[in-house]
Amino acid sequence: MYIELTEYLRCPEEHEEQTYLVLVPQVMEGRAVTAGSVGCPVCKNEYAIADGVTRFGDQAGADAGFPAEAATSLPAADTVQALLGITGPGGYVVLVGSAARLAGDLAEVMDGVHFVGVNAPADVAPSATLSLLSHPSVIPLKSSMARGVVVGADHAAEPWLGEGSRLVLRGLRLVVLAEDAAAPEMEQLARGDGMWVGVRR
Ligand SMILES: [Zn+2]
Repeated sequence: MYIELTEYLRCPEEHEEQTYLVLVPQVMEGRAVTAGSVGCPVCKNEYAIADGVTRFGDQAGADAGFPAEAATSLPAADTVQALLGITGPGGYVVLVGSAARLAGDLAEVMDGVHFVGVNAPADVAPSATLSLLSHPSVIPLKSSMARGVVVGADHAAEPWLGEGSRLVLRGLRLVVLAEDAAAPEMEQLARGDGMWVGVRR
């Protein structure tokens, strides 16, 4: 997990939005922590970072019940970039579920953007441009921290649409890799070609 992401992490327990987590790194690779933990000063929970993945909870439940066909039918990275409407470097883009498979290709067309995969498939590995987090029902990130969010078809339902919408900065976009996936708090921009695009009101 990218060190700078720590300030945008949020404990999955219900606390005030302003509460922060404390990073305890054990093994570092460049600016990424591959082993260690993050702790919550409010509820005293500790969440392990192992193999570069910060586990706020088991993601097994998150995978259950959703179709996984998106694995073979992901859109091109430049298409996703255009739908997100992001130009210029900096900030974070969050990729939920199977959308994390886009991280490598997106990093090539979106220089200087850091990606955060939530409940990524097991075959997706963390990298210098991709941090991985897991939890069965909450995205452990603060609200309005992302320049864009992409939700994979395997997570195109609640609670993920609501959680994804919460992360997007006002005026920026959420892309769902499924057409019939209206997200709350988002105004529909486009629908078609297996995708739904909304802008945060
Ligand atoms: Zn807590």
